[in-house]
Amino acid sequence: MKVHEYQARQLLQAAGAAVPRFEVIDSADQAASAYQKIGGGQVVVKAQVHAGGRGKAGYVVLCNNPKDVEENSRRMLANPMVSKQTGSQGVQVRKILIAPAVEIDKEYYVGMVLDRARSAPVVMVSKEGGVEIEEVAAKNPDAIIKEWMHPHLGLQDFQLRKLTNALGLEGDHAKAAAKIMSALAKIFIEKDCSLAEINPLVLTKAANGKPGEILAIDAKFNFDDNALFRHADIQAMFDPTEENPHEIRAQKFNLSYIALDGNIGCLVNGAGLAMSTMDIIKLHGGEPANFLDVGGSVTPEGAVEAFRIILSDPKVKGILVNIFGGIAKCDVIAEALIHAAKEVGFKVPVVVRLEGTNVDRARQLLAEAKIPQITTATDLTDAAKKVCAAV
Ligand code: GDP
Ligand code: MG
Repeated sequence: MKVHEYQARQLLQAAGAAVPRFEVIDSADQAASAYQKIGGGQVVVKAQVHAGGRGKAGYVVLCNNPKDVEENSRRMLANPMVSKQTGSQGVQVRKILIAPAVEIDKEYYVGMVLDRARSAPVVMVSKEGGVEIEEVAAKNPDAIIKEWMHPHLGLQDFQLRKLTNALGLEGDHAKAAAKIMSALAKIFIEKDCSLAEINPLVLTKAANGKPGEILAIDAKFNFDDNALFRHADIQAMFDPTEENPHEIRAQKFNLSYIALDGNIGCLVNGAGLAMSTMDIIKLHGGEPANFLDVGGSVTPEGAVEAFRIILSDPKVKGILVNIFGGIAKCDVIAEALIHAAKEVGFKVPVVVRLEGTNVDRARQLLAEAKIPQITTATDLTDAAKKVCAAV
C-alpha cells in the first residue's frame, strides 16, 4: 500500500523528525486561506499523487503570492500529471500540499528497503539527492552508501555516524540528520514498510546569522499489504481513488488481480500457473491484459466476479481460462463461465483449458451450455495458440 506525501510527513513528524509545517487542500478555492495559514511568503505547491517525478513534471512549484498558489493549484487539479512514473495517460491530482518554501543549500537522499539477499533492511544515503536519484543509482552506484540494519537492534549510533559522515555532515547538522534517519528506520520496522524514503533531505541556506537547518521536504512510504491487518492507522490512510478500480473490486473477493496493458484477459488458479499462462501467451505473440489468480478456494461468486472484472476492461479482445483443478474445482469454474455468459454476455472469444478435479463434469456442463464464444483446448499450448489466433 502506498500513501501520499502529506501522510508520510505526518508519520515522520509523529516519529520525531523535523518536517516543515504544511496545509492540504482539495480545491483551488481553499488555496488563498491555506497560504495565509502557513504564514505567506514563498511557498511550495505540490501535487499529492502516488507517483514520483513531480518536480520534473511541473507539479512541484514555488509561489510567492496567494494568486499564484491558487492558479497553480487549479492547473494541477485540472490536468492529469504525466511523469516518468505514471505512463502516458497520467494520474489525476485530487489533493495539493502547500508548505513554506525553503532555501536549499544541499539536497541529500535517504532511503530504506528490504535487502532480500542479506535478509535485513538496508539504509541507503547519497550526497547526490534530489530529482535524479535513479540516474545516480544507474550511472554512479558508488555515490550511494549503504548500511544494513539489524532487524532487532535497529540503527546503531556508529551506523548513524557512518551515514551522516558519508553525507559530509558535522555537528548539529549530523545530529539532526541522524534523528531523521532514526525516525525513518523506526517507522520502517514498526509499520512494516517495504520502502521508506526521504528525497530530498535538505540542508537549508544559512541566512541572517542563522545556520542552515536539516529538513525532510519530500517523503514516501510503501507498506507490506500482508502486514496491514496489524496497522489500523496505516489502513486508515488508504486512498482508493489512487488505485485501479478493477484491482479494488478484485480484492473484495480475494482475487489477486493486476491490470496490464495487453488485450488477452486471463483467468487462472494459482499465482505460478497465472505467471506461466502470461508467459505462454507472450511466447505465442499475444499480450496479457491482466494477471489474475482466483486462488484455490475460489467460490462461485468469486469466479463470476472475476469474469465481470475481466469483461469490464474495454481492451480485452479475448479471454484465456486456464484452470488446473486441485483444490479448485473445474465444475465451479465451468458454472461461473456459463453464469457470466448469461449475465454479462461474452462479446469476445473465450478459450478454456480445464484439467483436474471434476473436469469431466465441467466439460459436460460446457458442452450442454452451447455458448458459441467458448472454445475448448486440449492443453496449455493449444489454448495459448487458439486465443492468440482469435485475438
Ligand atoms: P518529486 O519530484 O516528486 O520527488 O518531488 P519533491 O518534493 O522531491 O520536489 C522536487 C524538487 O523540487 C526537490 O528536489 C527540490 O529541488 C525542489 N523543491 C521542493 N521543495 C522545495 C522548496 O521548498 N524550496 C526549493 N527551493 N526547492 C524545492
Ligand atoms: Mg522527491
